[in-house]
Amino acid sequence: MSESDPAAERQTMDVDVVCVGFGPAMGGFLTTLARGLSNADGTPAVDSEVMPGMPPQVVCYERADGLGFGVSGVATRARSIRATFPALDPSQIPMATHVREEKVLYLLDPVGASRRSAALRGIDAAIRGLAFMLPLKDHALELPYTPEFLHKKGGLILSIGQLNQWVAEQLMAQGQVQLWPGSPVSGPLFAGDRVVGVRLLDQGVSRDGAPEPGYTPGLDVRAKLTVVGDGPVGSVGRALNDRLGMPDGHHVRDWAVGCKMVVDLPETCTLPEGTVLHTLGYPEPEIFGFLYVHPARSASVGIFVPSWFDSPVRTSYRYLQHFVMHPALWKHLAGGRMRSWGAKSIQESGRRAEPHLVGDGFARIGEGAGSTNVLTASGVDEAWATGTLLAEGVLELYRQRLPFTRENLEAAYVARLRRSWVEEEARVAEKARDGFQKGVVTGLLGMALSGLTGGRINLGKEPVEPHERIDSVEGYFAGRVAPEDLARIRAECAAKGAPLHPALMSAAGWPEIPFDGQLLVSHQDALLIGGKVQAPPGYADHVTFLDPEVCKRCGARVCVEVCSGQAITPGEAAPGFDREKCVHCGACLWNCSQVEGGRANLQFRAGAGGLHSAEN
Ligand SMILES: Cc1cc2nc3c(=O)[nH]c(=O)nc-3n(C[C@H](O)[C@H](O)[C@H](O)COP(=O)(O)OP(=O)(O)OC[C@H]3O[C@@H](n4cnc5c(N)ncnc54)[C@H](O)[C@@H]3O)c2cc1C
Ligand code: SF4
Ligand code: SF4
Repeated sequence: MSESDPAAERQTMDVDVVCVGFGPAMGGFLTTLARGLSNADGTPAVDSEVMPGMPPQVVCYERADGLGFGVSGVATRARSIRATFPALDPSQIPMATHVREEKVLYLLDPVGASRRSAALRGIDAAIRGLAFMLPLKDHALELPYTPEFLHKKGGLILSIGQLNQWVAEQLMAQGQVQLWPGSPVSGPLFAGDRVVGVRLLDQGVSRDGAPEPGYTPGLDVRAKLTVVGDGPVGSVGRALNDRLGMPDGHHVRDWAVGCKMVVDLPETCTLPEGTVLHTLGYPEPEIFGFLYVHPARSASVGIFVPSWFDSPVRTSYRYLQHFVMHPALWKHLAGGRMRSWGAKSIQESGRRAEPHLVGDGFARIGEGAGSTNVLTASGVDEAWATGTLLAEGVLELYRQRLPFTRENLEAAYVARLRRSWVEEEARVAEKARDGFQKGVVTGLLGMALSGLTGGRINLGKEPVEPHERIDSVEGYFAGRVAPEDLARIRAECAAKGAPLHPALMSAAGWPEIPFDGQLLVSHQDALLIGGKVQAPPGYADHVTFLDPEVCKRCGARVCVEVCSGQAITPGEAAPGFDREKCVHCGACLWNCSQVEGGRANLQFRAGAGGLHSAEN
């Protein structure tokens, strides 16, 4: 099932458990598993099948070049993380602190460029009209309280990179499991419908995958159990979905691009450590935002650009800059310095996107297993929890000397999950965002109703796939950019081989970004800050275009206009791809506007490189 050369002679290795991806889900799994593998005196608590007399051999492969190179918020209630580390002292984890103050801000549009419905414009006008009696300041209305379902009180603010790194250090100190960063897994290995391990990516190949001098076929790692925790757009999880399909009624249709920066706060900033700001309303009404204050005068600032945003021009980086410049945030951030930046997809279908969680020889955890809760806007704690529940189940099966069959994993893992708070809260959240299929006001109302009624009342309708929503460029900008201006912009951009979005956003009224070389830097400079985006040589391109003719006819070319790293550029027929700039956000995968038979015209496969920042 791997995309690599099937005829190549490969080395093989046998282990007990092979794991794909090192995010919070795998952190929870490996930490809990490792504690149960040996007795206090160091003797094996359970036996390896591949190395009798030893504890089970557990190996984890992570695609990124470091174990702490993730992208996330993170404000989390941290219930399951705390359950794993009851004596957790946040000061031991760089950038971690307690959540102390939480606010929700509704941001009005101070520049008049966002596309707001008539209903929303009415609400905005009413807010401005009642400014004398409302807590309205700097074009932002502070909501009187943070709804219980959104609250992170008692929780933690973390950097996901630092959390992953800290967890990896604990695991390596214990020595029970092996962690291999810089090791992309190409796909699962099947024997019939049984998963029997994974294949690593081939090295020493050209951009199109042809062997070159130094060709090294990817290792086949055979395992009794394959644990898949490769996140929202992981190639192993997607290969399993392709092979096994989704359970009845389940689908992955809702997505978002999360884009954030870590900022050194200016001396003038008075926001206390532990502050959490949730925002809605700006830069576009569909875009939610956040600001979390870490220790040592630094903060994470970011936005979520959702798939139910109809614009074909979804440049999260530019929107992030407009967000940062909103007066309610700018007053805290002006004079600050961007330390790092990143973007990543979020799978927002939640429980509806739950795939077949187990099968003969495999189990799935974390966001790729549908664990993210879109009502509470949290995924880290949920992912961690699914990992710990699987580990408890695996240890139970080891103790009972039972094999990793679908039935046994159902009983030991899925049954635990069904009894857990993750499942209980996922059911409440299941339809919480369906209202956004009908518009932002219905969406917000729907979320509030779902949250306040425990999921009993929901508004909206079943989500459709992004490509069914994304408008044409002409349709989306109708009434805001004159057709002749649009045609001119198209021609100018085509002549320069440049994407449309900077010119289109400017034409639609968005002010130019006043670059200051510190906080407001060009997208290109953001890619380079601290050498943050790199790709090792010798790997094939992980983004490819299937039929250039389809790309040629594609009007919107959303893959170009959404690309978080400016890695996809307009080309003659198919777009160009520069793997040196790709941050592996996966947004191009679900944003292709030409989908036929459920298949996008763009492939996003396992790849090496990407962001090199342990701060995000
Ligand atoms: C900007 C942003 C802000 C967010 N804010 C919050 C927040 O405030 N609170 C919150 O709780 N959640 C937040 N989330 C969501 C949260 O980050 C995710 O739900 C969580 O990280 C999911 O954990 P995971 O372990 O399932 O997957 P991931 O964290 O995605 O980890 C999966 C790992 O698998 C690796 N991988 C993928 N493919 C392969 C392969 N083929 N081979 C080997 N390795 C592979 C990836 O590199 C990655 O390291 C945010 C997300 C983003 C993007
Ligand atoms: S990959 Fe999809 S969105 Fe991009 S140009 Fe081709 S058809 Fe259009
Ligand atoms: S090419 Fe890379 S950076 Fe661009 S959208 Fe795709 S995954 Fe993200």
